[in-house]
Amino acid sequence: MTALYRAAFLLVPFAVIIVALRACRVGEASRWVDRVHEFDKNIDVVVDEDDLIVLAPTQKAGFGAAYEVRRFRESVEKNWGDLLGVPTERRMVVVLFSSADMVRAYAGRRMQHDPGRFANMVGYTDPRHGAIFLPAHATSVATLRHETVHWIMGTAAGDQVRFSPWLMEGLAQAFEYDPNRPGIGPERAGFIRTIMGGGLDIERLLDLQEYPEFVGAKAHRNYAEALVLASFLLRRRDPKLLRRYIRAERASDGDRVRQFDRIYDYRGNTFRADLRAYLASIGTG
Ligand SMILES: [Zn+2]
Repeated sequence: MTALYRAAFLLVPFAVIIVALRACRVGEASRWVDRVHEFDKNIDVVVDEDDLIVLAPTQKAGFGAAYEVRRFRESVEKNWGDLLGVPTERRMVVVLFSSADMVRAYAGRRMQHDPGRFANMVGYTDPRHGAIFLPAHATSVATLRHETVHWIMGTAAGDQVRFSPWLMEGLAQAFEYDPNRPGIGPERAGFIRTIMGGGLDIERLLDLQEYPEFVGAKAHRNYAEALVLASFLLRRRDPKLLRRYIRAERASDGDRVRQFDRIYDYRGNTFRADLRAYLASIGTG
């Protein structure tokens, strides 16, 4: 009898904790519904699991995104976790809005004074709340992967870290096409050749440290250059150097052009010649 009492005493708190945890989990998904309904009345919870919450206007869109995100995360965390970082928070929130305008409205909700900042934006990541946002009907696998890379890097580093825009956008784009072999996918080669006829001004790109400037007037050029530089570093340089550089950015807000130069010697002849050769090879092989 005493043993039974003891068992009951031990079990009751456990049961209470388990029920509380479940309630908490259910609560999080519905809190997200409350948060986004102001912008889109049509979305609801489609997936509510330990590793993933998906809100979408249709079951099909929600399940499709869940399948892709899980597969992509598993492969990237296994093969590139030491480079991009491993998030401490396991659960990711994916919100698929009914339109791209709604994504932009949500992203811009607290930034009334920055018109144009979100004009060309398709997806948006909020690492602080562990969530990504994108339009449901136009959800391409590429956009989903792009935002997931932002999510991984952002949540692994913590919200006090601000990576350079070229590094964030370069890596996110590099993983869009093939997560096993990140770089410039064939679908981007033509675009890059058109936009980068004049070569890559690496100094200018490294110096662009503010996001509004990066996504401003020269956004297309900046994104293209960021993709080329990140792909070059992944493909034509030892990935250990990139890991060192990402760690340096995580550790300090110091002079990033100097950090980059210390690790890569980008002013040196070898770096410049290799980068030129890489640029010439884009779209040819
Ligand atoms: Zn991005």
